[in-house]
Amino acid sequence: MIKQEKILITGANGQLGSVLAKRLQEKHGVNNVVATDIVADEDFVGNFEILDVLDFERLKSIVIQNEITQIYHLAAILSASGEKHPKRTWDINTKTLFNVLDVSVIQNVNKLFFPSSIAVYGTNAPKINTPQSYELTPTTVYGISKVAGENWAKYYFDNYDLDIRSVRYPGVIGHQTLPGGGTTDYAVDIFYKAINETNFECFLSKNTTLPMIYMDDAIRATIELMDAPKKSISIRTSYNIAGMSFSPEELTYAIQKIYPNFKTLYKPDFRQKIASSWPSSIDDSVAKKDWNWNPLFGIDEMTKIMIEELKLKQKTKLQKT
Ligand code: NAD
Repeated sequence: MIKQEKILITGANGQLGSVLAKRLQEKHGVNNVVATDIVADEDFVGNFEILDVLDFERLKSIVIQNEITQIYHLAAILSASGEKHPKRTWDINTKTLFNVLDVSVIQNVNKLFFPSSIAVYGTNAPKINTPQSYELTPTTVYGISKVAGENWAKYYFDNYDLDIRSVRYPGVIGHQTLPGGGTTDYAVDIFYKAINETNFECFLSKNTTLPMIYMDDAIRATIELMDAPKKSISIRTSYNIAGMSFSPEELTYAIQKIYPNFKTLYKPDFRQKIASSWPSSIDDSVAKKDWNWNPLFGIDEMTKIMIEELKLKQKTKLQKT
């Protein structure tokens, strides 16, 4: 008989965590998922615990009490927020990872997921179709913490046989929650303006092309990687995955197919420098070869769904008030 997995998610209130938690509840059963975050979520349906992942003893006791077999460690400070408090970001992003790595080894957790980011690349990397393996010289503390995390992931796999798996997410676009302080947040914020038929002020320049992924693809990639046979995983740092690539101007054109009068005004701020150091598109051929990764959403499908879902949400909210 296959043993029932017991799942722990850190950072479960976040943009990705809130959607992943629901998907994992569907897959493993509501009672087999423990969602945690540093702040409470009153609306969460299922098991929820407050956990600051810097607190190793509390993390360990939650793992023991719930007989956790898999951890999805999503808690982190993102790229744009990270630049405001560099040392704090380094501490949170690396110390929480060490706590999760150590508890996984001590408590024999079967599998661990740790998300990395396209932010691991620096200005020297080829912008187009950035290869899986290239010198990683990030310019942000967030990127530095993810490069270190990727290498520690491989170290724990090599030395402690910990089955840790990782993807480098591009900018994630979803309608469920607002993004949490990243450099690609504009690609979600823009839709809130579009449905209200107001102009959008973009913090990146109009031709800044970045790799992006629709939420459903990002969640599916996470689960497919975790379900892949161990022998097919050749990368123990982190896999490149690609969804789509576009600039703010191209996203504006996609929205104008639905709202022809919609306009974006460009006022680049400190986030432009971060975005300019990142790839424009990503080579994800290794993920495709190893575990059959295949994105399903392009810019037009994503735009249509984002607008439909946000309009529906707005209508439901209005009906409740
Ligand atoms: P988010 O900022 O929306 O959520 C992060 C969550 O972590 C928040 O709910 C926050 O309260 C929690 N958190 C912060 N510090 C904590 C601590 N010490 N203990 C417990 N919880 C803490 O982030 P997200 O967009 O959901 O990203 C999830 C993961 O994916 C992160 O590791 C991030 O680096 C990675 N990632 C995200 C994107 C993206 O576009 N969203 C892209 C690349 C990589």
